Amino acid sequence: MSVHALSQRLQARLQDRLGPQGVLLAAADKASYEASARHAGGHAQGVVRPATLEELSWCVRTLAEAGCAIVAQGAATGLVGAATPSAEGSQWVVSTQRLRDRLQLDPQHRSVTVSAGYRLSEIQRAAAEHGLTFALDLSADPSVGGMVATNTGGSRLIRWGGVRDNLLGAQAVLVHPPGQTVGSLRGLRKDNTGLDWAQLLSGSFGAFGIVARAVLRLHPVQKQIATALVAVESVPVAMALLESLEDRLGDFVSAFEGMSAHAMHAALSHLPGATRPFAGGCEYAVLIELTSAVPRDTGLDLDALLLQWLEGRLQERGVLDAVVDKPDRLWRIRHAISESVQALGQLVAFDVAVKRSSFAAFRAQALETVRATLPQAHVCDFGHLGDGGIHLNLVLPPGSDAQRIGLLRTRIYDLVVHTFGGSYSAEHGIGPYNQEYYERYTAPSTRALAGVLHEHVDPHRRLGNVRLD
Ligand SMILES: Cc1cc2nc3c(=O)[nH]c(=O)nc-3n(C[C@H](O)[C@H](O)[C@H](O)COP(=O)(O)OP(=O)(O)OC[C@H]3O[C@@H](n4cnc5c(N)ncnc54)[C@H](O)[C@@H]3O)c2cc1C
Repeated sequence: MSVHALSQRLQARLQDRLGPQGVLLAAADKASYEASARHAGGHAQGVVRPATLEELSWCVRTLAEAGCAIVAQGAATGLVGAATPSAEGSQWVVSTQRLRDRLQLDPQHRSVTVSAGYRLSEIQRAAAEHGLTFALDLSADPSVGGMVATNTGGSRLIRWGGVRDNLLGAQAVLVHPPGQTVGSLRGLRKDNTGLDWAQLLSGSFGAFGIVARAVLRLHPVQKQIATALVAVESVPVAMALLESLEDRLGDFVSAFEGMSAHAMHAALSHLPGATRPFAGGCEYAVLIELTSAVPRDTGLDLDALLLQWLEGRLQERGVLDAVVDKPDRLWRIRHAISESVQALGQLVAFDVAVKRSSFAAFRAQALETVRATLPQAHVCDFGHLGDGGIHLNLVLPPGSDAQRIGLLRTRIYDLVVHTFGGSYSAEHGIGPYNQEYYERYTAPSTRALAGVLHEHVDPHRRLGNVRLD
């Protein structure tokens, strides 16, 4: 039978089983699944949208047995191009958008068992009805499957960790053996009886299996939130503030986010009706959040504690000003940075992390490297200072020299990895966008282990857009 006839037969089988909602083949229908949040789009053979675990397993088996290449896609908010089909048009996208056959809360166990297609915001809404919350907070609305696959971080990692720290179980479908379901949804908080599929899948970037369901740990809704924006003279002053805050009020610190003056200015210009928080200028600002599940009527008053601490700090050198305001008003500024910076011109973004103790020194050297390599770059950096993460985002005039950008990328990553022992992809994971740096910086022993695992779950390398071996 000809390749064309085989492909027609496969399409007909998929359509028969999944119906018109479940298979997209027309260019216009596929288009949004071929786009990427930040990089060039690709082309898909087709898009399948299973609605149940059984349909997912059947789809993966059918595609794998037909020898097709597959890429899993959730909400497509990933920033390394890993959920976008490749340019050659040879891959099928398995979208989890319709995979919403389970959302089951266990308030007493403080967990939720949820299908891969649910979004972060939907989990938060469902959990809130029971006085609970999922620990992640970020300015995108990713899917459960995407969060597990990329081990998403976010602004509150300093207190509750990332996805891996809040993952009690996961179930996935493998391409080898085709369509086999693995993992566990028991959701135990203690289970020290062997290897854990959930932890193996988390941070495997869609290369080991398609996550169908996960069990996520929930926390009580925070009944008090106190937030402040503090203007400082320099990043070393910001880091000293973090130490002081943790010494004094450490149990309550749930975010310590930094933003350069340029990043803050971009966000304020972008937000309708926003006003400058500080009368004077500043080099850098930090957004501090304290939270507690203990209500105020117990006598614990986080606003008062934060104010008292700030009063003391405002006497110190380098702390210029502080604004205590409603959480929504301050977070609005922080969450607007990504989008506003992207709107300024050609964005070149670095998502890196170093130890907190090296943060100030790294940032100073990184800015120097940018100045020496691309002097025309406008640096709008911001980051999760509490965990050493920095989004070193640069805005360049359109049409800037691609070779110089590539050179800068290598220089910054070398600085992060070789000089500071840090990570060249702190949160966003691995995808086609940074695959070459995975190969450059990953230890051979780590790649060898990934190779053995890869061989076990996908010997023909049918799944995903990254190679971890
Ligand atoms: C404005 C903005 C802010 C962001 N802020 C942060 C942040 O603070 N912290 C952070 O960590 N990230 C952040 N991100 C990145 C992004 O939101 C995360 O990587 C997210 O978890 C990806 O989820 P998704 O559902 O969009 O996955 P997708 O983009 O669809 O896919 C990402 C990867 O996961 C794989 N995948 C998707 N679904 C599955 C599945 N069911 N099974 C197996 N593999 C799967 C894909 O193949 C791909 O490799 C941000 C993104 C944006 C646009």
